[in-house]
Amino acid sequence: MELTDLTISEIHNRLKKKEFSAKELCKAYLDRIEKEDKKIFSFLTVTKKLALSQAEKIDNLIAKREKLPILAGVPAAIKDIILVKDVRCTAGSKILENYTAIYDATVIKKLKTQGVVILGKTNLDEFAMGSSTENSAFFKTKNPHDLSRVPGGSSGGSAAAVAANLCTFALGTDTGGSIRQPASFCGIVGLKPTYGAVSRYGLIAFASSLDQIGPITKTVEDAKIVFDVIKGRDEMDSTSIGGGYDKGLGSPYRQVSKGYVTDKRYRNRLRNRQTLNNLRFGVPKEYFIEGMDPEVEEIIKEAIKKFETLGAKIEEISLPHTEYALPCYYIIAPSEASANLARYDAIRYGELKTQNSKVKTLIDYYFKIRGEGFGEEVRRRIMLGTYALSAGYYEAYYKRALKVRTLVKQDFEKAFQKVDLILTPVSPTPAFKLGERVLDPLKMYLSDIFTVPVNLAGLPAISIPAGKVKNKLPVGLQIIGQAFREEEIFKVASLFEEANL
Ligand code: GLN
Repeated sequence: MELTDLTISEIHNRLKKKEFSAKELCKAYLDRIEKEDKKIFSFLTVTKKLALSQAEKIDNLIAKREKLPILAGVPAAIKDIILVKDVRCTAGSKILENYTAIYDATVIKKLKTQGVVILGKTNLDEFAMGSSTENSAFFKTKNPHDLSRVPGGSSGGSAAAVAANLCTFALGTDTGGSIRQPASFCGIVGLKPTYGAVSRYGLIAFASSLDQIGPITKTVEDAKIVFDVIKGRDEMDSTSIGGGYDKGLGSPYRQVSKGYVTDKRYRNRLRNRQTLNNLRFGVPKEYFIEGMDPEVEEIIKEAIKKFETLGAKIEEISLPHTEYALPCYYIIAPSEASANLARYDAIRYGELKTQNSKVKTLIDYYFKIRGEGFGEEVRRRIMLGTYALSAGYYEAYYKRALKVRTLVKQDFEKAFQKVDLILTPVSPTPAFKLGERVLDPLKMYLSDIFTVPVNLAGLPAISIPAGKVKNKLPVGLQIIGQAFREEEIFKVASLFEEANL
């Protein structure tokens, strides 16, 4: 077994036993990145110096026999939309090509406090808009399982890096599926936490009411370890919630949402921890749609049967507004994006070298710089969002989309009165070929049809490997939980993971 194959707890135990040093581990990854990333293209920036100096600090701690935090010395990669102080942060965009972050995002601060070794920043769709990482302004990342296919997106660089053993874990972001869908395509684990569970401070905003940072890992246990480190209330993000998480009081959901099952019922169901006995799982009938890859459907149905053999009660449920989720998302997300991206003009955040120019007025300058600095998809979204928010259209589009969002959320609330968790596919197909969908944005948007409703409702969901199409292309199963009950998701996901080995 190679050093780069290890999981977080394996690294932790073996570092403590001094079987290898943090520096050796770090170098093993850096060497592997140098060799393998020529084929995968997952890193936009490799922070070799930073990584080695962090590893050295951990080796000093070990030499002094100090207590090691669980993530100490563990090499990680960070999606290049999360700020790491003094490291370039591009968001996959030309307009930020020369921007260097001046502070650490809260999640990065937390990782650094643990002693994580940051190997570098990973490729993504520009401003996280996309499902294949092909919208990066720099290069296209390849799926490690088949180099002619996409790794998914927008956190495609992070997912490919984890799948190719170029880091132990990575951070991604998920606005409409960007952690779960690439995790599914790359055969690994990805968690989209409850909205508000993880601070967004220092995350370059795409759609602020949907964005969440989460872990991309090789195992469910690793996802839990990373999530436990990055979650919690942060005074720099007013939408972050600590409550029960920070005080160890269990779910704080009573303070923020009504209508879910009572705590008593929840506790009863959790009593039997080692099996799925007593837990009820809903399978929404709207999630098995026409046009879905038959092999994906079969793998998901098999996985659901496995849950049954583990003692779970499976029942069909209905989430009747599912078909409106995608159109609703494509009004809300671009609207928020059009406001969030208004600040980029290559003056305030990093300069952009333009071909010299005949620019005379400020307006000319803005047309030129934003025309050259943003890619096609980003421009499309800014226009869509600006239109949906404009006087006269606001009521018809944006306001109506907000109402539909409430209906989607209520679908889940009703379902969770009957079931504890929900099982669905992550995406209707396995990883598609590079180039296959770039010219057809609507087809590209469809790959998030099963992930987007979860963001609209603010719920937590995980993608875990369920099987492979043609013995080669991974397929993920999605487990959706109730707000702030990631714990329960981890529990059932690791039971399935074990049974599926
Ligand atoms: N693919 C979706 C989009 O393009 C979701 C992206 C994301 O979750 N960041 O908006």
